[in-house]
Amino acid sequence: MCSKGSKAYSIFYLKCPRCHEGETFETGSWSFVKPVDMLQRCPKCDLNYWPEPGYYYGAMFISYIWTAWFCLLFVALFNWGLGFSQTVAFGLLIAFLGINYVYIFRISRLMWINMNVKYEPNAIEKYGHTRQVTAK
Ligand SMILES: [Zn+2]
Repeated sequence: MCSKGSKAYSIFYLKCPRCHEGETFETGSWSFVKPVDMLQRCPKCDLNYWPEPGYYYGAMFISYIWTAWFCLLFVALFNWGLGFSQTVAFGLLIAFLGINYVYIFRISRLMWINMNVKYEPNAIEKYGHTRQVTAK
């Protein structure tokens, strides 16, 4: 399910949606250094990660939709499923979100760009050197 070539791979490993090789963010997945600084282009296949101003505005709605469901299910599991009190269940949720908010932000952006960009197995050969060729 999460092997290279699937959208889940690009989303959860924070890889370029077109080539599944290039990084999308400058720092590691849970890094609190430059948490929101996304690269301008894919370093491998040269995909423009910023096709238009405000492109990632839609990722905010994606994030809202799936984290709302996640929070409901998380609290339901800990409260009803495992028998924790509501206070403890919400405390665990807040701790979980506090630790993972950078990753949640990033995978929401990757979900958004993956809706618009398809995986191309030969993207690096096809597009990777266009900028260097045109620069000569
Ligand atoms: Zn790429």
